[in-house]
Amino acid sequence: MQSTAGLIHEVLPVGMLGCNCSILGDPATREAIVVDPGDDIQEIVAILNRHKLKVKTIVITHAHIDHIGGAHKLRAITGAPVYMNQSDTFLAEHLSTQARWLGVETPTNPGIDTLAHEGDILRAGLKEVHVLETPGHTPGSISLYLPTEQRLIAGDTLFKGSVGRTDLPGGDSAALARSIRAKLYALPDATIVYPGHGDATDIGTEKRSNPFVRA
Ligand SMILES: [Zn+2]
Repeated sequence: MQSTAGLIHEVLPVGMLGCNCSILGDPATREAIVVDPGDDIQEIVAILNRHKLKVKTIVITHAHIDHIGGAHKLRAITGAPVYMNQSDTFLAEHLSTQARWLGVETPTNPGIDTLAHEGDILRAGLKEVHVLETPGHTPGSISLYLPTEQRLIAGDTLFKGSVGRTDLPGGDSAALARSIRAKLYALPDATIVYPGHGDATDIGTEKRSNPFVRA
């Protein structure tokens, strides 16, 4: 559990691949955004209930099964729209292929209720979440930046000491490096990065020492 002044931020690893689901809430208005509800929807709902949060938007950073798998279920429970980049539609339409790779049941494709675009500003109450298009891991990958809180939710674009794999359908290593350098390394060094898997890091550390993409 993490909560800083003025922001509720819970990071919960969900599913067999441990996708980091983020719950971002405004303690003043109790409005929330859920990012990458890949699985374990009952646990996500329990956290929402514990904080008395109402979900305004379900954000999918990219349409890999471990990030999108529970979105349909969470929308059915909360009524919140699913927000995703159109360029990942081809992945969402092949969830059965992704499920076969993992040996799991095929989840329902939630489709997209609201199309994601560079420069969009999502709101959870008074909290602003800025949308960055960061293609490379997938063509439609997005990252989320909270300027007031200096936090970045990076999906599978940037990891602590690593970057997203680009050997899956639609992956592009040159695009990935461009996204990281132009969009993510342009953020303040103190920005805390919450990757789609594993531990948090910060922009300054990755600019200096990430072995795959240096500043
Ligand atoms: Zn992924």
